[in-house]
Amino acid sequence: MSRNTRESGGYLSPVLSILVALLLALGVIVFQETRIPAVTLLGVAAAPLVVGASDAIGTPQAAIVTAPTTVPTPPPSINARVGLQVGHWQAADLPAELASLHTETGASAGGYEELDLNLQLARQVAALLTARGITVDLLPATIPPGYRADAFVAIHCDYNNDPAMSGFKLARYGDSANPARDDALLRAIASAYGATTGQPIDPHITRAMTSYYAFNSGAFAHAIAPQTPGVIIELGFLTNASDRALLVGAQPTVATGLAQGIIDYLRSR
Ligand SMILES: [Zn+2]
Repeated sequence: MSRNTRESGGYLSPVLSILVALLLALGVIVFQETRIPAVTLLGVAAAPLVVGASDAIGTPQAAIVTAPTTVPTPPPSINARVGLQVGHWQAADLPAELASLHTETGASAGGYEELDLNLQLARQVAALLTARGITVDLLPATIPPGYRADAFVAIHCDYNNDPAMSGFKLARYGDSANPARDDALLRAIASAYGATTGQPIDPHITRAMTSYYAFNSGAFAHAIAPQTPGVIIELGFLTNASDRALLVGAQPTVATGLAQGIIDYLRSR
């Protein structure tokens, strides 16, 4: 502080004064020049660009080199196709071989229809996957014959007469052609979905899940190809108040958990 006071006290020679004035002028010019191209280079000015005047005089290039990078690195794009089946969607249009399911229109409880939630959540999962470059097929109850994809997930919500039953269920085809691969998809979704939603896993897997028609290409033409990794998920119980609050009121969380599980599986292949 004292040295600065002395320097501004009039002891400078005229030549030095001119030099200082030139440096100051240069400082203003450099300051302006470094600001404009730096912001242009960055593209966005989310964070203020701070360039000290003394740095700008001494090392004008350093201002550009050390400018903070404000452009976030996008996550890597994933080259894959995923089929999301909306449970019970357009069940009335199921083909003759699955005519017994025409009346399987899904659960309803607390003023909510399972089909509506399945469709809303599947659309949100689809948007999250599409944002990562993944091709998504939103499928109704009727599966295109021999459907092939890198992953297939049938989306349902659960129902039980006991309102205390809660949690999510995951199952693969009991007769899977590649159980290790299907289990890898199942584990990835169980892990991400459980962690994201805080939902416990319900181990009471039903035969309706392990023999789900969309997996059974031996019995039905309208089923996924045996090469397609597939699981069925019951996202939670519509008949449980806290599960229903999640499925209805925290859909972005539910969708993020399921999408993250699918992404984790695809990236692990
Ligand atoms: Zn269902």
